[in-house]
Amino acid sequence: MTAKSPQSVKPTVLHVAIPVPLFRLFDYLAPSFTEYPLKPGIRLEVPFGNGKKIAYLIKIDHESTLAESKLKPILSVLDKEPLLSLNDLTLIDWASRYYHHPLGDVIGSVFPALLRQGKSTVIETHEVVYALTPHGKTLSPEDLKRSPKQQALLTLCQHHPLNVVSQTDLVNFSKHWRPAVKALIAKGLLHTVSLQVNKPYQPDKLAHKTESIKSEGTKNYTLKLNLEQQSCVDAINSALSGFNVFLLDGVTGSGKTEVYLRIITTILARNQQVLVLVPEINLTPQLEARFQSRFADAIAVSHSQLTDKQRLQAWLSIQQGNQSILLGTRSALLTPMPNLGLIILDEEHDPSYKQQEGFRFSARDVAVMRAKLLNIPVILGSATPSLESLANCEAGRYRHLMLTERAGEAAQPDMLLLDIRNKKMHGGLSEALLTEIRKTLMQNEQVLLFLNRRGFAPTLICHHCGWVARCRSCDANLVVHQQDRRMRCHHCGKEDYLIQICPACQHPELTPLGLGTERIEDVLKDIFPEQTLVRLDRDTTQRKGKLQSYLDQINDGSANIILGTQMLAKGHHFPNVTLVALIDADSGLFGLDYRATERLAQLVMQVAGRAGRAEKKGRVILQTRQPEHPLLNTLITQGYRQFAITALAERRQAKLPPYSYQAIWRAQANKPGLPFAFLQSVVELIHRQKNPQIAVFGPVPAPMEKRAGVYRCQLLLQSKSRSNLQTLLAFLVEKVQTSPDAKKVRWSLDVDPVDLY
Ligand code: ADP
Ligand code: ZN
Ligand code: ZN
Repeated sequence: MTAKSPQSVKPTVLHVAIPVPLFRLFDYLAPSFTEYPLKPGIRLEVPFGNGKKIAYLIKIDHESTLAESKLKPILSVLDKEPLLSLNDLTLIDWASRYYHHPLGDVIGSVFPALLRQGKSTVIETHEVVYALTPHGKTLSPEDLKRSPKQQALLTLCQHHPLNVVSQTDLVNFSKHWRPAVKALIAKGLLHTVSLQVNKPYQPDKLAHKTESIKSEGTKNYTLKLNLEQQSCVDAINSALSGFNVFLLDGVTGSGKTEVYLRIITTILARNQQVLVLVPEINLTPQLEARFQSRFADAIAVSHSQLTDKQRLQAWLSIQQGNQSILLGTRSALLTPMPNLGLIILDEEHDPSYKQQEGFRFSARDVAVMRAKLLNIPVILGSATPSLESLANCEAGRYRHLMLTERAGEAAQPDMLLLDIRNKKMHGGLSEALLTEIRKTLMQNEQVLLFLNRRGFAPTLICHHCGWVARCRSCDANLVVHQQDRRMRCHHCGKEDYLIQICPACQHPELTPLGLGTERIEDVLKDIFPEQTLVRLDRDTTQRKGKLQSYLDQINDGSANIILGTQMLAKGHHFPNVTLVALIDADSGLFGLDYRATERLAQLVMQVAGRAGRAEKKGRVILQTRQPEHPLLNTLITQGYRQFAITALAERRQAKLPPYSYQAIWRAQANKPGLPFAFLQSVVELIHRQKNPQIAVFGPVPAPMEKRAGVYRCQLLLQSKSRSNLQTLLAFLVEKVQTSPDAKKVRWSLDVDPVDLY
């Protein structure tokens, strides 16, 4: 048959997104025959340059800006059914436009690595694990003592209830597990078996972890909600069928998680799915355990420490609707969920919800948009809500729900500003603080000390000539790491041996200046030699399993002094901690960023929230040289809520966000002049627009101009009107595509920045 209407001779054109940094779709020809109908949301393989790439089908029609002869056919179709729904595609498209980030890159970020590489979407039903042979079950690990790794592995298997280890266990066991496994197989102690896995994602739990889940579980099931919790649950339950944003504003320990768990139960009963976002899963195993204990079979977990395979399994089981709850970090936000009925974002104030490189999105704001598109509710929870969310409550856009009391027996801790001006100090700790620590330890209670600076000392200076150890690639000092005998740059990661002799004047009088957690650890070990101390920071918890083992030591009471960085502020529950001290409360007061005070207030309250979470009342001490500082005083005497009211009034007065909208345009290059010149050309484009509603600040060098060897500049744009700013940004991004200056730099746009650096 030869159809002759003009419409039918036009070929079918596939508009696809490809993860490359270009602001456009690419057109290809559809194959003349496909087994299944092509639909938006499927993956394709397409020729690209000299190679091929995975592409995502966005639109199908008969139009192209390219001549038909220029269009190439696709190579293959990878999916029978779309992996993304039309709602998913709408959200992705919105996010790409709002953050002015290429669609191909945004869409790529939705998929786990293996799907991005074109792997299939079939969920595996079998997992290969290693099991002990009869010989392996009976051999004494002592017999392997000449190879400690093999010995440890044999012990691990023998302790497992099924005498097996999974790939997950092995990755947690050691990065270099393969030689040990090979050796045990060669010795006839291990063999591989294929296990049927019922659930797509269910890493083997170690026996003790399962135990703690069980006890936690039974405890929670018997809880009766208090009146405040009940009224929050009622308010949310009565509004589950439409778009509503709830700000669950409850002091630490007030039972917010308990409220989430109740609402989730209701949603599951309606056969819907729930997306639960948290800032960090690895730092808060207790939270994961609590969710697992209630909803074990329904829950999939997604975070960066899973293997690629595990991530794929979790993603697929959620995307295919086999599991109902996805607990994940910001990277899980866009996971397709066919039946999504509720989004919960815990610790909504946490800056880690904002991605700081590549696709710079706010997981909180995109979550709200996702809920709006799907017409479902969102719960934002925090003990220290962001000023943005509080302003949204004030404006009537969000509903403000409060929990003002701690749940159960726990009472709110007392807070105290400790003036350390002219006081005798022992390596950063005042006499008065040491007395309090001593008292607490005498009562067999635990002490938590907070200092947001890791390493031994932030500066190494020559006592003789004043030379300071600087990073060669950054505008920054090198930090002394005494235990490793190293000096490290915390901005680019460069490191060097800790030197003993000044390179400038050859005198051996180099002095570490200032305090880091490592130094405080030394001081405490000196003063309290008989106590067990754990230090929690990025240096001590890098090795897998370390954090968990420290948390276990804290929970079983074998450690009684806990020292650490902001890792400690993240949702941990330490019932026996009754004294919390901020060693240097002033360090956050003088940030360049107008958000510094908000951050400090949140940090103080979050760290304070670790005190006295059980029956015993807690105390919080802030060492300061600014005892009259208005912010600290408002916070201490009147609490976070009053602080937030004051801070919001200041922001309104100064026309700062949330009462205006900002974007930062950043540029960097190997030569200092280029970023500035490029941003200057952007400023000229803006001025030609003659838009009185846009305020332009800069370009200026970034606060740390040189970092990792590149020079950085930035331009801040601000407007009273979000849409006005958006229109301008869209125009600028379009113009810059063809600008020669843009080719000489790497630039990025940060919409609603949370960090001015
Ligand atoms: P948040 O998430 O606000 O920090 P949680 O939900 O973790 O608070 O609750 C803090 C502690 O109080 C937990 O140990 C929890 O089991 C307990 N708890 C919560 N709600 C109640 C309640 N209604 N009665 C008794 N204890 C409760
Ligand atoms: Zn010197
Ligand atoms: Zn550096």
